[in-house]
Amino acid sequence: AADEGTVLEVEGVTKRFRGLVALEDITLSVPAGQIRGIVGPNGSGKTTLFNVVSGFYSPTRGRVRLHGRDVTNLAPYRLSLRGVARTFQNLRLFEDLSVRENVLLGLDRTRTAWIWRYLATPWAVARYSRGLNRSAEEIIARFGLQEVADAVPRALPYGIQRRVEIARAMAMSPSLLLLDEPAAGLNGEEVRQLAEIVRSIRGSGVTVVVIEHNMGLVMSLCDHVTVLSSGRVIADGPPDEVAVDPDVVAAYLGD
Ligand code: ADP
Repeated sequence: AADEGTVLEVEGVTKRFRGLVALEDITLSVPAGQIRGIVGPNGSGKTTLFNVVSGFYSPTRGRVRLHGRDVTNLAPYRLSLRGVARTFQNLRLFEDLSVRENVLLGLDRTRTAWIWRYLATPWAVARYSRGLNRSAEEIIARFGLQEVADAVPRALPYGIQRRVEIARAMAMSPSLLLLDEPAAGLNGEEVRQLAEIVRSIRGSGVTVVVIEHNMGLVMSLCDHVTVLSSGRVIADGPPDEVAVDPDVVAAYLGD
């Protein structure tokens, strides 16, 4: 029973791969406007949890709800239509397309449904196309990508590529943004910029769940942290409390 302020609810989710239990009876809920950290040793199930929430995996058991509505087993594109966007631990940009084109593809998720209407009214296409381009330019400017908008991702520094992936996800106008290790491979200055970007995303009303190994970033950025170990939630609370939880300390020492 979710109140309206709850964006994501995971209830009793178990995910098995043959004999291996990757997630065991995970329950968590993320209120609107929160920046939630998901931390835990390697192999504790963090990415599997993202894959279940974003529809890439079906849970073996349990439910996923978005804004109070059951979305368990929906395909990734259906979840994106319902407002879930994500990035990947290993970047998944379209390498042969420019930064602008990558952003345009993100925008397309909000617009594809209208294309048939525009085909029926060809006189409106120019306006449609101008609107799309204007939205792309807004996002490119918002993420400071003007200088590199015409470049292909592989020609750009890694930190910029990561920013392009977040920009593409934000082009989808999500209500829930899932970031899988966004600081991996970034230098200190880039991590600071990332923190500002994530705060501004939250400031625009988007709820953020972030898997992150950089504990400094987790402590400074997240309102609330969920700790996984061996597929279970072992702690859940404000970052300063979770950091000193004996179970958490033990899980990391055992990593
Ligand atoms: P984390 O993101 O915390 O490092 P993962 O969610 O990637 O952990 O993995 C949790 C466990 O599930 C690991 O033992 C991993 O090998 C296993 N796992 C993840 N995805 C698959 C898959 N598609 N097939 C089989 N095992 C998987």
